[in-house]
Amino acid sequence: AISIHLRHCARTFANGTTALHPLDLDINAGETLVLLGPSGCGKTTTLRLISGLETPDAGGQIRFGEEDVTRLPIEKRDVGMVFQNYALFPNMNVADNVAYGLKIKRLPAQEIRRRVEEMLAMMHLDAYADRAIHELSGGQKQRVALARAMAVRPRVLLFDEPLAALDAKLRDRLRIDIGQLLRQLGTTAIYVTHDQAEAMALGDRIAVMEQGRIAQIGSPREIYHHP
Ligand code: ADP
Ligand code: ADP
Repeated sequence: AISIHLRHCARTFANGTTALHPLDLDINAGETLVLLGPSGCGKTTTLRLISGLETPDAGGQIRFGEEDVTRLPIEKRDVGMVFQNYALFPNMNVADNVAYGLKIKRLPAQEIRRRVEEMLAMMHLDAYADRAIHELSGGQKQRVALARAMAVRPRVLLFDEPLAALDAKLRDRLRIDIGQLLRQLGTTAIYVTHDQAEAMALGDRIAVMEQGRIAQIGSPREIYHHP
């Protein structure tokens, strides 16, 4: 797994909105860091800087391990992303959606089949490999999106409110499965949410954001245990 380092990363948009004040952040190799905070506090902007969808203002630097990725476009960063709205390919069945990134990487057919089966099993989708996307429930679609993102074993996994569109019961189940998967894969992950329960359950550490700054960072215990 790889560590991530943000140095002096700020972002002010053309309209004058400052989404992020200069930010330093170190994410340990293999940990899940949760960015927690209310709407508008800068969580998504931070995530987009790490993914390469957004570039920090002049003076900012982002490293993956020793590698400076500040100017590297998203497709070269080797990151997997899962959003709130699944962005699956509607004309491919479940297995083909999960296989998509593996085919782009030109893995051997046998390896692709093995990994697709493994990911579908981990996401409890074994029975759905041949299903069309429109046949799936919302929770199942999000499981496919997770399987697809993780199948390629990216260097970094980025989650932007992946459970926000689901009802409470589904959310609880999927949260548990994501936690298991993250522990099993050991991939460095950044997980954006405004949900405290999700942050507690999934974060090795939690960065609490307020108005474009990290107000507090630490383990769930450190954040929520007030002496
Ligand atoms: P969060 O993910 O915590 O809800 P964001 O990072 O999306 O917060 O947004 C932080 C602030 O930046 C908000 O005030 C938002 O309206 C603003 N913002 C985000 N993207 C843009 C943009 N492209 N142009 C202008 N303002 C933006
Ligand atoms: P949930 O309550 O979990 O969101 P749904 O009520 O949407 O689930 O669906 C329940 C079950 O029915 C799921 O296992 C789903 O795969 C299946 N299902 C949903 N829509 C269809 C459909 N159009 N055709 C076949 N099976 C479907």
